[in-house]
Amino acid sequence: MKDELYKTMWHFFPSFSNWLNDIEDPREKKKIEYPLSSLTWVGILLFLMKLETRRQIKFQFNTNEFIGNINLLAKSEIEQMAHPDTLGYLLKRLHPEGLSDVRVKMVSRLIRMRNLERYRLLGEYYLISIDGTGHLVFNRRHCERCLVKKKDDKVLYYYHNVLEAKLVTANGLALSIETEFIENTDEDMEKQDCELRAFYRLVENLKRNFPQLNICLLLDALYAAKPVFDICKKYDWKYLITFKRGSMSAVYEEYIALKSLQRENAAQIRDDEIEQNYNWVRELDYEGRPLNIVECNEIKEGKNGKIEDTKFVWLTNLKVEQYNYKQIAKAGRLRWKTENEGFNIQKNGGYNLEHPYSHDEVACKNFYLLLQIAHTINQLMEKGSLLKDQIQKVFGNIRNIARRLLEDFRTKSTTKEQLQSLLSVPFQIRFDSS
Ligand SMILES: [Zn+2]
Repeated sequence: MKDELYKTMWHFFPSFSNWLNDIEDPREKKKIEYPLSSLTWVGILLFLMKLETRRQIKFQFNTNEFIGNINLLAKSEIEQMAHPDTLGYLLKRLHPEGLSDVRVKMVSRLIRMRNLERYRLLGEYYLISIDGTGHLVFNRRHCERCLVKKKDDKVLYYYHNVLEAKLVTANGLALSIETEFIENTDEDMEKQDCELRAFYRLVENLKRNFPQLNICLLLDALYAAKPVFDICKKYDWKYLITFKRGSMSAVYEEYIALKSLQRENAAQIRDDEIEQNYNWVRELDYEGRPLNIVECNEIKEGKNGKIEDTKFVWLTNLKVEQYNYKQIAKAGRLRWKTENEGFNIQKNGGYNLEHPYSHDEVACKNFYLLLQIAHTINQLMEKGSLLKDQIQKVFGNIRNIARRLLEDFRTKSTTKEQLQSLLSVPFQIRFDSS
């Protein structure tokens, strides 16, 4: 298992340790006992091994073999395992931009190596799903930036949410590409920060970090609004936005009317189990912006024999044609992957996203970013060519990979020579073609 991790890291991200060394160390030079790279790896391994609390570092990581393995990954020479508070001390002071940049470099490299090319929509657009989720909740005010949930002037709780942009693919990858923390910075508590405000900050960073990338955003109905259409126009991005009657009711009524006029823009696909009826409308005029709409009605037999009838509708600036409506609808449905493969796994699949790994507001952000980096590495291991065929056969389930990795790190040492011979066999991670 350890070998698979080494292979993933070195063949895939040969510059990973340089990226960590590029991060500016905020600590006083004299006082540094543990290099930033080895401490960062301690944090990444905490999440990779799904240990769920920071104090596990003390109980699980403290063997000579483990320390040797960290040194190989971090190219460091530490002699003892760091105390969990030493990691905490660093993460309180570290500007979150440092770890955020590492994540950008990871995804950029995957794109540059053309590993994700085959998952582009219409052979052109990388699918980026943007969605908010809860991060931390507190009974008492935890920092100046807490969001406040009130009911009838009474404070119910304090909380922190995040807005995440994830690159999603049909084979189930959901790779964190950008994060915006939703938090109050104004004195004026009446105007709290919210998902939509965070969206405008997030897209600016996304454009700056990936200026040339062909992007199609996958968004929920909250984003069916003119400023969002304008941003996509300005950045030359495509979008697929869930369209509900309530979000733009006049436009929706017009859509219904146009649908009956453009009857040629329809198709039916049927197999034994599922019937899908598609409709699309082109160039509905909305305040000078042409909007296209795609609808998919799916009828199938549910688990309990009941007929399930589900309707999906999207707004888009993609040109919908007879030959591409199906791919466009399929891409629109990938948005649930952020919910499922992104947030649910990070909350309930051993990463413990909602656990406060620190009480410090800056450290919380850095722990969040370490989690995202670890989850990306894990997805590459699980879904790449190294492990994917073995998961059921050898490990039983995905959770056991984390256990085996921990066991290997604790009990098996690797020398530099062994690592070199392991890496001398060329290989490249490939994903499914599905
Ligand atoms: Zn707070």
